[in-house]
Amino acid sequence: MTETFPFFVHGFFYFALGVSVGSLLNVVIDRSVRNESLFGRSYCDHCRKVLSWFELVPIFSFLFLKGKSRCCQKKLSFQYLIVETVTGLAFVFIYFWAKSLVQMLVLFGLVSLLIVIFVGDLKYQALSDYVIFSFFAFSFSYRFYLFFSEFWERELNLSADFFLRFLAEVSLYFLDGLIVCLPIFLIYFLSKERAMGQGDVYLSFAIGLLFGWRSGLIALYLAVVFGGLVGLILMLTGRARLKTKIAFGPFLVFGSFVMLFFQEKVYDFFKGIYQF
Ligand SMILES: [Zn+2]
Repeated sequence: MTETFPFFVHGFFYFALGVSVGSLLNVVIDRSVRNESLFGRSYCDHCRKVLSWFELVPIFSFLFLKGKSRCCQKKLSFQYLIVETVTGLAFVFIYFWAKSLVQMLVLFGLVSLLIVIFVGDLKYQALSDYVIFSFFAFSFSYRFYLFFSEFWERELNLSADFFLRFLAEVSLYFLDGLIVCLPIFLIYFLSKERAMGQGDVYLSFAIGLLFGWRSGLIALYLAVVFGGLVGLILMLTGRARLKTKIAFGPFLVFGSFVMLFFQEKVYDFFKGIYQF
């Protein structure tokens, strides 16, 4: 893929695809928390008027309407523009980064899910069961995929031995989840839900399922460090106090992003420090 022309065309195609997916993610973010159907027509946040197609074109509508709704001239949330643009850029990045078609599709799904969790938790400080369940299902299927692709590569046959190994694998996935969510569960339990919410416990379990306990714990560690830093900055600039509630979900998403795309660099970094 050294020619410049297809390079740009592909990049633009995946940006447009990402932007369209981002537009759907905005719907999922708001409706999943409000427990509304995902399939109804889109309506104005302010006056509930049903929107027509030209008010729903990602990015363009927002810019064309100058950030105001056509029906009642109220301010449109920047969330729409930001989520659409970020998803578009993320899809382009994944397209260039992924080594196979399957990996690319898996990452499209996973990153979309992480964007929903990031914005949903930031905006509502709550995650719907629906989103958390999707993350669980996704992490499980991803590990199954890794297991089966390794199995097919070695051309092993379906025997009783395979079945036992499969059961052992599944129980190990659960163990991964439990190990990673244990510290979060303890904080949640000991602080009586003040420092961490139930959603954070589930999220960290899903992160353990997805990455395995080692990388899962590192994702958790990155989330705590980054969360502490942001908290400190907010306090120093007078935007938060010690008792201000800050959602932890976005930081867990940050840790997961880093482990998804920079896992090897993170391992090298820790190896350099601890010399193992
Ligand atoms: Zn309106």
